[in-house]
Amino acid sequence: MHSVDFLINGQGLAGSLIAFELLQRKKTVLVIDNSHHAAASQVAAGLINPVTGHRLNITNNFYEYQKAASPFYRSVEKTLGVKLYQSLKQTRLIKNQGQFDYLQKRLQEDKYGPILKNHMDKGNWFNDQEQYPYGAINVSQTATVNAPLLLKTTKDWLVGQNSLTTEKFNYDHLKAGESSVNYREIRASSVVFCEGFQAMYNPWLDHLPFKTAKGEILTIQTKSCELDRMLSWGHWLVPQEDGTAKLGANYLWNDLSLTTNVDTVQQFLSSLEQYIGIEATVIKHAAGIRPSTTQRKPFVGRLSKLPNAFCFNGLGAKGCLLAPHFTTLLADHMLYDRPISEEFTQWL
Ligand SMILES: Cc1cc2nc3c(=O)[nH]c(=O)nc-3n(C[C@H](O)[C@H](O)[C@H](O)COP(=O)(O)OP(=O)(O)OC[C@H]3O[C@@H](n4cnc5c(N)ncnc54)[C@H](O)[C@@H]3O)c2cc1C
Repeated sequence: MHSVDFLINGQGLAGSLIAFELLQRKKTVLVIDNSHHAAASQVAAGLINPVTGHRLNITNNFYEYQKAASPFYRSVEKTLGVKLYQSLKQTRLIKNQGQFDYLQKRLQEDKYGPILKNHMDKGNWFNDQEQYPYGAINVSQTATVNAPLLLKTTKDWLVGQNSLTTEKFNYDHLKAGESSVNYREIRASSVVFCEGFQAMYNPWLDHLPFKTAKGEILTIQTKSCELDRMLSWGHWLVPQEDGTAKLGANYLWNDLSLTTNVDTVQQFLSSLEQYIGIEATVIKHAAGIRPSTTQRKPFVGRLSKLPNAFCFNGLGAKGCLLAPHFTTLLADHMLYDRPISEEFTQWL
C-alpha cells in the first residue's frame, strides 16, 4: 500500500494549484489525470478581466480575488521557473448609446475608480469619431495567465517527484473509510475532486447544478498590425508572445461536444474586421467546456455524502482569477478546518 496525504483527481487549473499549495505546505500528494483530456484549462485564454458584459459589470469580489492571484502565480513561477502571469493593457470599445449610459453610471461608482480610465483618450485605437462615436475606455488591472504552460510545467514538476499518474480515475475503485480513502493500492487521508465539467461523470458530484458553457477560441495571425494591448468590443483580441493573437470567445450553453463550428470562424473574423479593421488568418480553432454553475459560484469544500472527500470545481469562465483565492481557502479548510461560506458548500 502506497500512502499519501491527498489524492487529487484532475490536473487542470484547480488540481494544479491545490497540488502546488499542498506540496508547499509539506503535504504529500498523488495527482491522477487523464492526459488533460477535454481540459478547459488547455483552451482558456487565461484572461483576468475586471469588467465584463454589455453593462461593464465588475466581477464580484474582484479586488479580493485579484489580491490573491498575482502573488500566488508569482510563487508558482518562482518554483517552476517559467513566466505565467502578465499584466496587460486593455482598451474597450463602447459600442452604443446603451453601453455609453452604463459607462457614465460606472464612472460615478467608487469601485470602478481604479479600473476604468481615460474615456475618449486619444490612444492608438478607436480614434475615428465617426466610426466610434461613443469612444473607448482603458481597463486597468487586466492580466493573463498562461494556463496551458502552467499545466505542462506543473505536470513535469509533479512527475519529477513521483506525484502524478496519467490514467483515467475509476470511481468504482474508490473506497472511503472512517479516517482515509483507498484507491487501488493507494491510501490517502483525503481525496480532492478537480475534474472541471467532467465532474458530471463523478457519482458523488453528478447532482451539482452545473450550467456548462462551451467556448470556442481562435489563434490568428493578424496582417500588418502591431498589437500592444488587449482590445475588447464584445469579442476580445489578446496578443501572444509569439506574435500571434487569440480571438474569442463565444458561449454555447449545455453543449458538451468539443467539436468546432465552421460558422464561428466567419463570425469572429467578420466582427474583427468590422470593429477593429483588421484582417487575419486562422492558425488554430479550439473548443472547451467551462465548468460554469447556475449560481455563478464555485463548488468548494467537503462532501457531505463521502467521508474524507473534497471538491474544487465550478470555476466557470473566470478560473484564473478565482483559483488562487479558493486554493488557499480550501487548503486552510482541509488542514485547519477554516470555515468556507455556505454559498460555496451548499450543494456538496
Ligand atoms: C474557450 C474558453 C475560454 C476561456 N477563457 C478563459 C479566460 O480567458 N480566463 C479564465 O479565467 N478562464 C477562462 N476559461 C475558463 C477556464 O478554462 C476554467 O475556469 C478553468 O480552466 C477550469 O479549470 P478546472 O481545473 O476546473 O477544469 P479543467 O481545466 O477542465 O481540468 C480538469 C482536469 O481533470 C481531468 N479529469 C477529469 N475527469 C478525470 C478522470 N475521471 N480521470 C482523470 N482525470 C480526469 C481532465 O483531464 C483535466 O485535465 C475559458 C474556457 C474556455 C472553454
